Amino acid sequence: MNESALREQICASGQSLYERGLAPGSSGNISVSLADGWLLTPTNACLGRLDPARLSKLDWQGKLISGDPASKEAFLHRAMYEERGRAGAIVHLHSSHAAAVSCMAGLDPCDCIPPLTAYFVMKVGRLPLVPYHRPGDPKLADAIRALACRHHAVLLANHGPVVSGTDLNAALYATEELEETAKLFLLLRNTPVSPLNGAQINELKETFGLDL
Ligand SMILES: [Zn+2]
Repeated sequence: MNESALREQICASGQSLYERGLAPGSSGNISVSLADGWLLTPTNACLGRLDPARLSKLDWQGKLISGDPASKEAFLHRAMYEERGRAGAIVHLHSSHAAAVSCMAGLDPCDCIPPLTAYFVMKVGRLPLVPYHRPGDPKLADAIRALACRHHAVLLANHGPVVSGTDLNAALYATEELEETAKLFLLLRNTPVSPLNGAQINELKETFGLDL
């Protein structure tokens, strides 16, 4: 896909997330890697009303090449791309259910949401928790890098998910699966559940060649 088609795809995806209540206000950001840098949604932009011509284009040092000033959360994306060489796109949301889980006490920091469904295992895998840092704290980038080498999706404590994919659709589908599974997890909080067991997860790994 060429740059202009990717710009259109970012805007259409942002609008879809906004219309479904997954990116309220000016929350959330989307990035896509290019041969000569990367595109990111601008700072204070509403994902429901993005302009393809005004998306921020950055180089790999984070310098703005063109477009509006980039999201202040650009460093989250950079940290993820630095560890995941094959990532084509990254989605970061403050979506309600995933953000709610990120605020819960007693989460397993290596595995925040149990393997409730096969699709969660296949699209998200194990979801680690990145400890809380204030917005803009550079230590947050280090904390993401430490986990992103092994995980394409992470959950920022008291904040929301950061999810990479081989392309934008893959990143979106994984983010939406994470949000829906977070919703199931919350719905089931007071109910005994039987998540997938180790043998069932291994079967998925072997059948679908997953690297979890
Ligand atoms: Zn955020």
